[in-house]
Amino acid sequence: MAKGIFLQPANIKNKMVRDHLERTIFQTVELNEILRFQPNIRSDLERFYVWGVIPGTKSKWDKIQIGDLVVFYSERKFYLLGQIVDKFHNKSLARYLWGEDQHGRTWEYVYLIDPDSLITINVDIEKVIKILNYSPGFVLQSALYHQNEKLLSLFTDRLMEDRTGKHDIITTVRREKISATIEKYKRDPSFSTTVKSNYGNKCAICGIPNEGAVVDAAHIKPVKEGGPDIEENGIALCKVHHNLFDAGLITIKDGKLITSPKMSHQLETHPVISEFKGKRVKLVKTSEKFLKWHQENIFKD
Ligand SMILES: [Zn+2]
Repeated sequence: MAKGIFLQPANIKNKMVRDHLERTIFQTVELNEILRFQPNIRSDLERFYVWGVIPGTKSKWDKIQIGDLVVFYSERKFYLLGQIVDKFHNKSLARYLWGEDQHGRTWEYVYLIDPDSLITINVDIEKVIKILNYSPGFVLQSALYHQNEKLLSLFTDRLMEDRTGKHDIITTVRREKISATIEKYKRDPSFSTTVKSNYGNKCAICGIPNEGAVVDAAHIKPVKEGGPDIEENGIALCKVHHNLFDAGLITIKDGKLITSPKMSHQLETHPVISEFKGKRVKLVKTSEKFLKWHQENIFKD
């Protein structure tokens, strides 16, 4: 159980921060990749999210214990929460993952986050300021570490609530600009959780269960087209069927899987398609209205 919490500034308006998020938080780093630089990892996980701090923050990083929580902060809000499963000092891994800043420094005080623990949160700094008795204008400019039960429960109460939505950020980020994603989960962090749970955490087409985070909550009408974050505009799809759906190569019409004539023969005869073509797709709270929009605007007929 977590004893402490590491408050990590990571301003999403900063291009370098966004690049780092893209590299090691929005996608995992394989154990093998880390082992090339750091031979001993005190965790039996196969992949991790990775973050690090520059030497100036070492004294705060020193206090981190395995099992502690980390929360990422940007623009007066904490937006991500995860659990730290290891930490170590490794300059070459940091250089390999993130390069250097303009002063030649790198984020060599590294920590690993359990990918299954990462969730999106939306916690105002004001709540933290109140608990820690900081002055009202306080800005988190460099990392802080606290062992404070009230602070911990401010974030872990959220953890319990959001437990099932732990992959929200990962599934959404791949398709969209980071800024749009941040906007999106500010709007409705529960979209992904709700849609996936409507479908029993399985792909609506092939039924593959959501192990290894292979199932997404797909928007039928995309967010960038003004599609809302409501369950009627959502369907649970595995990565394969999600990509094919977004590419307009498949759609769902009259409750059945339809394939595009633009699809290659090779794909059409592949089991991911041939096994399900023309078969019933059981819809749960997904609205025909949005599917019709998809058929007319995305589907390549
Ligand atoms: Zn599928």
